[in-house]
Amino acid sequence: MTDSRPVVTRFAPSPTGYLHIGGARTALFNWLYARGRGGKFLLRIEDTDRARSTPEATEAILKGLTWLGLDWDGEPVSQFEGRERHAEVAREMLANGSAYKCFSTPEEIEAFREAARAEGRSTLFLSPWRDADPATHPDAPYVIRLRAPREGQTVVRDAVQGDVTFGNDQLDDMILLRSDGTPTYMHAVVVDDHDMGVTHIIRGDDHLTNAARQQQVYQGMGWDIPVFAHIPLIHGQDGKKLSKRHGAVGLHEFAAMGYPAAAMRNYLARLGWSHGDDELFDDAQAKEWFDLPGIGKAPARLDDKKLEH
Ligand code: GLU
Repeated sequence: MTDSRPVVTRFAPSPTGYLHIGGARTALFNWLYARGRGGKFLLRIEDTDRARSTPEATEAILKGLTWLGLDWDGEPVSQFEGRERHAEVAREMLANGSAYKCFSTPEEIEAFREAARAEGRSTLFLSPWRDADPATHPDAPYVIRLRAPREGQTVVRDAVQGDVTFGNDQLDDMILLRSDGTPTYMHAVVVDDHDMGVTHIIRGDDHLTNAARQQQVYQGMGWDIPVFAHIPLIHGQDGKKLSKRHGAVGLHEFAAMGYPAAAMRNYLARLGWSHGDDELFDDAQAKEWFDLPGIGKAPARLDDKKLEH
């Protein structure tokens, strides 16, 4: 763990829609953690998915954060703008042996999966190129894959979930760079977090499995692994993952209903985090008190009645 470095956190939304309450809470937790420790809170717009990312969504997210009173340090970073750097790191990994060129075509991989399904075998694709002699490499398009360990386990030391163990035989050699030279999202995240000096990654626990694979990229580059804190997603009163059918889920909807930003901060801070029996606190207290052990392992339930007092 890397607790001795000055704290740097980040919020890394994909700009594909408005800022919903789960994203706002993730941003708030990162902001509180950094601000309470004299650290930095950075913003990265994960706009590598060109088909789904829109400038309107980026604007809505920045507006939402501003309304909520969360200020970030420096300019927001565009992940897409970093694509050359992401490619450069994938090539460094080729050079140091922690990645390799895979010439298997999508058709070959699909055919392998179909056959595996039909025969009831694991569909986890293991590239025949992993250990191929470079002298036998064809002059053909290739992807760059991580050379993930095949034996043993990858343990994510999570500040909320504890040690989470993944069998390496369950993790494939993920693609870092596609055949058109563009980075995958999973690779870009690691390079960006490293380059931005992020020390603590606080995000939804839907990214927990990603953390195991991302950790392998850190290891491939010999980089310090940040502290991971995967927070349980927010559920509705019925215990199901929060969605539109639970009513307001966009931060802008709460703003439009007239809730003051300070009440919203207080409410969001308590969605999944607690500090003894304290229910109402101001920003200074929240910054002082907010910590990772206070985050619960069970999903928080949205109850906007609590917003009303
Ligand atoms: N862009 C991802 C999302 O919006 C977050 C990735 C991360 O925090 O590492 O879900």
